[in-house]
Amino acid sequence: MRRVSVSQRMKKMFLLGIIMGAVAGILFTVLIANGIISNKEETYAARVQTLTNENESLQQEAAKRGAVNNNTDLLAGNEEGWALALVNESHPMADTSYVPAEMIEVESERSVDSRIAADLEQMLADGAAEGLSMYVASAYRSYEQQRDVFDATMRDWINQGYSPLSAYDETRKSVAVPGTSEHATGLAVDIIASEYEALDDRQGDTDEQKWLMEHCWEYGFILRYPQEKADITGIIYEPWHYRYVGKAAAKEITEQGVTLEEYLGE
Ligand SMILES: [Zn+2]
Repeated sequence: MRRVSVSQRMKKMFLLGIIMGAVAGILFTVLIANGIISNKEETYAARVQTLTNENESLQQEAAKRGAVNNNTDLLAGNEEGWALALVNESHPMADTSYVPAEMIEVESERSVDSRIAADLEQMLADGAAEGLSMYVASAYRSYEQQRDVFDATMRDWINQGYSPLSAYDETRKSVAVPGTSEHATGLAVDIIASEYEALDDRQGDTDEQKWLMEHCWEYGFILRYPQEKADITGIIYEPWHYRYVGKAAAKEITEQGVTLEEYLGE
């Protein structure tokens, strides 16, 4: 009897062992499988993140290439990167008759590309709320208007006794040659302090410009022609000329302390 009971108990324990083993096995498998799946999910999520980042930086690179290669096509489109269009002497407007599809008058006879109007108006309003007094002295300029400004400035130099050729060279330093002006994009504005309206270096010492230089990036703008960057931009220090590049780029350009040319790898 005792032996039977022992063997029965053994049998029970054996059965129990098998059941426990099976349960443990199932549990183990489930846990491991879950672990593997969640590991896989993590790996997968990380991979997706990496690919997303890579894709974003590629898109950014593509936008930069586009910004450099066909500025007016880029401006006319609504694809990402329109705000990065590069216009300077070595990258003139591909189409000199370009006019922004939609413009908004931010002040009397001062119109900008409608895509930047809200940010510009917000910047001016926030500046005014700080007790500053400034206004947009120049915004979108057509090719013809730019030519008139260029001719008028050149005439001033000639009247001062300069030869036409040296008058042209002097003018180029402060006025963009028609077709190479950012004002033709509708993304650039000249903002001037009411208390000091002269367009010279001292404009940069006004409270208005100090505030703008410090905060413009928050609204997607950059000071386009900073001091000591004339060799890169081709334009002398212009503490009044602000260019919209979009908030992300404005932040990066400001943080890196570079010009738009350098940012675009030009
Ligand atoms: Zn300007």
